[in-house]
Amino acid sequence: MTNKLTPEKIEEAARHYENITSGKTPILEKDKGLLKEQQPILDSQAQPIVDKQIKDMHDYLKKKDQNSYPLIPPTDPRLLMRIAPYTDDMLKEFKIEDRKELSKKMYASMVKYGGIGLSANQVGLPFRMFVMGGHPQIEDGKVRNCFNPLVNDVSPETVVMKEGCLSFPFLFLSIKRPKWVNVKYTDENGETIDEYLHGMSARIFQHENEHMNGYVFTDLVSKMKLDRAKKAQSKLVKQTIRTQQQRLRNEVKIKV
Ligand SMILES: [Zn+2]
Repeated sequence: MTNKLTPEKIEEAARHYENITSGKTPILEKDKGLLKEQQPILDSQAQPIVDKQIKDMHDYLKKKDQNSYPLIPPTDPRLLMRIAPYTDDMLKEFKIEDRKELSKKMYASMVKYGGIGLSANQVGLPFRMFVMGGHPQIEDGKVRNCFNPLVNDVSPETVVMKEGCLSFPFLFLSIKRPKWVNVKYTDENGETIDEYLHGMSARIFQHENEHMNGYVFTDLVSKMKLDRAKKAQSKLVKQTIRTQQQRLRNEVKIKV
């Protein structure tokens, strides 16, 4: 999940513009191949794609000095499937030592993309886990590594807030959610945590928990609302490009 964009955030995003233009984080309307309406995917069609992508992930992990994972496109079936319960023996196949190593890399990836929550399936890993927090203004930067998360109870009161998602850069949707949640998960040490979350933490947990079941936040709004948000998204993209160009021009001026 991402925060609402501020001018600073736009500037920060502009720095990642290379990723965006190279298609690693597709956002432009004209990228029809990646942003087209989601087609229902049959299991028989999905399996070869999944197999290939697992192979790609293996190849990627073989490379040295990889401290973070790349995001997968929003139409990737791995993002749209319910994830099986996590067990520690699943890590071996992906050459990950333990929960701590996975948590560390997940956190590094989340920070790299400027998020405040990231689910394993957003980077193509089939683990029922996500990382959240790390923002200085949210619970003093507390980080949670949540394995096999569960939402046990929610408040009757709801609150509407704008939300973003790292899998959908520059897209922000107003979403109504319970104000607080009672949650349960195991952490990076394998310890069971049962706690109440409030404010932004409650929201992030709910957002990431939906990723565990293959839902993305665009599933939660009407088509009309989504279309409106997509228009705002392309405006933000243009704004980002302008900021990027201005920054480059300023850099040239300084150099000259
Ligand atoms: Zn998300």
